[in-house]
Amino acid sequence: MLKNEYLKSVFETVQKRNPSQPEFLQAVSEVLDSLEPLVEKDPIYISSGVIEAFVEPERLISFRVPWYDDNGKLHINRGFRVQFNSAIGPYKGGLRLHPTVTASVVKFLGFEQILKNSLTTLPMGGAKGGSDFDPKGKSDAEVRRFCQSFITELQRHIGQHTDVPAGDIGVGGREIGYMFGQYKRINDTWEGVLTGKALSFGGSLVRTEATGYGLCYFTQEMLKCLKEESFDGKTVVISGSGNVAIFATEKATELGAKVVALSDSNGYIYDPDGINLDVVKDIKLVRRGRINEYLKKVPSATYHEGCEGIWNIKCDIALPSATQNELDEAAAKTLIANGCIAVAEGANMPCTLEATQAFLDAGVLFGPAKAANAGGVATSGLEMSQNSERKAWTFEQVDARLKEIMETIFHNSIEAAEYVGRPGNLVVGANVAGFVKVADAMIAQGF
Ligand code: NDP
Repeated sequence: MLKNEYLKSVFETVQKRNPSQPEFLQAVSEVLDSLEPLVEKDPIYISSGVIEAFVEPERLISFRVPWYDDNGKLHINRGFRVQFNSAIGPYKGGLRLHPTVTASVVKFLGFEQILKNSLTTLPMGGAKGGSDFDPKGKSDAEVRRFCQSFITELQRHIGQHTDVPAGDIGVGGREIGYMFGQYKRINDTWEGVLTGKALSFGGSLVRTEATGYGLCYFTQEMLKCLKEESFDGKTVVISGSGNVAIFATEKATELGAKVVALSDSNGYIYDPDGINLDVVKDIKLVRRGRINEYLKKVPSATYHEGCEGIWNIKCDIALPSATQNELDEAAAKTLIANGCIAVAEGANMPCTLEATQAFLDAGVLFGPAKAANAGGVATSGLEMSQNSERKAWTFEQVDARLKEIMETIFHNSIEAAEYVGRPGNLVVGANVAGFVKVADAMIAQGF
C-alpha cells in the first residue's frame, strides 16, 4: 500500500488512463511500492517528474494481422508492440503468441522488461510484443504465414538500432527464423534485428542454457555473500521441466547440489538419489513427453499427481521455474518450516506477493525474477554484440560473460537495497537499481 503522496497521485493517474488493464496496474503498483524509500531519500525523482514519464510507454503499436489457414479461410488477429523506454539503448523484449495477449499484458511485461534489461548492465531499453494468435494445433505452414504477416507490419517499427524483438511464450527458433527471413526479404538487409536466431545465421551459443545457468550463478553469489554458503551438498527442488528448469538442474548439479524434484503441469517426480537429467532431457527435449515417464527409466523414483505438492519436499534451496503464481503463502510457510534457506525465481512471478513477503519476513534469501532470471535477455544482448561485430564467440566466452553479469546484478541489487535502507531486500534492491540507471538517463536526456 503506497504511503507517499506523490507516488499515490502518479498511480491514480495511471489508473485513470488505463482503467481496464489489471496486469499493467499490478506491475506499476508493485514497482512504485519499491521506489518509496528511494524517492524519500532522493527527491530529484519527484521534482524532476521522471516517474510520471517512466510509467507511460513511449509508444504502443497495435495492428491487424491477416493470415490464411490451410483450408484457405481468412483469420484476423491483433498484433502489439509496446516500445516502453529507450533511454539506455534500443528497445528490447520478447514476442508472445498466446490467446491471452492483450495491450494490458504486453504493457505489464514491457514495463518489467525496462528494469530487467537495465539490471543486466547492457545497453537495452524495454519493450514487449506479441499477438492473440494461438500457435497450438497450427500446421507449420499456418505458423509461417502468420509470422510473415505479423512481421510485414511490424518491420517498419523495428531494426538493429531501434528495436530488437526476441522469443517468448509460443515464439521459439522456428518462429524467429520465419520472422527474420521476412524482415530480410522486405528490407534487403542482413542485420541482427531479432535474437534467438539459429546458430547458422547469427544466434549465440549458451542462449538455450542461459536462463537456467544464470539463475544458478545468481543464487550461488547470493548464498556466498549473504550466508557464506554454496550449492555444494545442498538438496534442491526445482519446479517445471522446461527450458529454465532443465538447465537450472544441470548447473545446480554441476555446482555440487542434488536436485531431487521436477514437475510439469500434471504432477511432480521425486528422486531422492538426485534427478538423472539425461532421462529428463530425453523425455522433454527429444520426445516432448510427460514427466511421469521418468519412472519407466528410474523405478526407484516416485510420481505424484498435482504440481503444488512439490513444495512439501524438504529442501535447502527452491527454484520455482514453471509459471506465474505457482508458489503461494501456504507453500512458502511449508518450505520455511522445512528449513529452506534460499529461494530464487526462475519463472516470471512464480511466487505470490504473500509468499514473497513470508520469505522476506522469515529471513530466507530471496532472489526476485527480474534479477534472478535475467540471464536469458542478457545473453540476447550478447547475441546483439556478436552480430554487430560479425563474430561468433565461443561457448566459454559467452558463459563467462553471463556469469559475470549475473554476479553484477546481485551486487548492484544488494547495494541499492542497502542504499535505500532495506538491507538484504533484493526485491526492493532490484527495482531501485534497475530504475535509477534508466531514470538518470531520462533526466539527462530531458526525457
Ligand atoms: P517451457 O514452456 O519450456 O517450460 C515450462 C514448464 O513448466 C513446462 O515443463 C510446463 O509443463 C511446466 N508448467 C506449466 N505450468 C505448470 C504448473 N502449474 N506447475 C508445474 N509446472 C508447470 O518454459 P520456460 O522454461 O522457457 O519458462 C518457464 C518460466 O520462465 C516462464 O515463466 C517464462 O516466462 C520464464 N522465463 C523464461 C526464460 C527463458 O529464457 N526461457 C527467460 C526468463 C523467464 P507442461 O509441459 O505440462 O506445460
